[in-house]
Amino acid sequence: MLAVYPGSFDPITNGHMDIIRRAAALFDQLIVAVLENPTKKPLFTVEERKWMIKESIKDIPNVQVDSFHGLTVEYARQKGAGVLVRGLRAISDFEFEFQLAAMNHKLHPEVEAVFMMTNTKYSFLSSSAIKEAASFGGCIRDLVPPIVEEQLKKKFSELGRANK
Ligand code: ADP
Repeated sequence: MLAVYPGSFDPITNGHMDIIRRAAALFDQLIVAVLENPTKKPLFTVEERKWMIKESIKDIPNVQVDSFHGLTVEYARQKGAGVLVRGLRAISDFEFEFQLAAMNHKLHPEVEAVFMMTNTKYSFLSSSAIKEAASFGGCIRDLVPPIVEEQLKKKFSELGRANK
């Protein structure tokens, strides 16, 4: 069975990595699909985000990286995926995910949504918290893959220089 794990991944965190490893163990193939969402103002371009994911999943053989725009469930159907994987961190994620899954089910009932509970170590972890911490020079070493730590440092030093 092919599964798609969609998201913004701006940037990928160890919370995402944990879901990827667990989903890769459950499904034959997993596509990590980066959403090109023009309404969110991302820190990293889609190409940068894909590159950081690729570098971080090198040791997991059945995972690929792709990007898409438009409806997630439509993308999953086009790829022939039977499952959409999403992670749940807290009750606050539930309401949004519940609505999304209901809409997706209405559009394409053949694509099943599978929710994976966060590892409690990462229940507080989000890409936006990481960006905020990194922008103020906080230590994020155990929370993101090494390439992300490196690229965040680079990005914020470039932005710092641009604002001077
Ligand atoms: P989106 O904009 O689609 O929410 P994100 O990149 O923020 O994109 O998240 C992608 C998916 O990963 C979502 O299902 C989200 O709930 C899940 N996720 C994000 N952070 C974590 C975490 N720390 N633990 C488990 N799941 C997570």
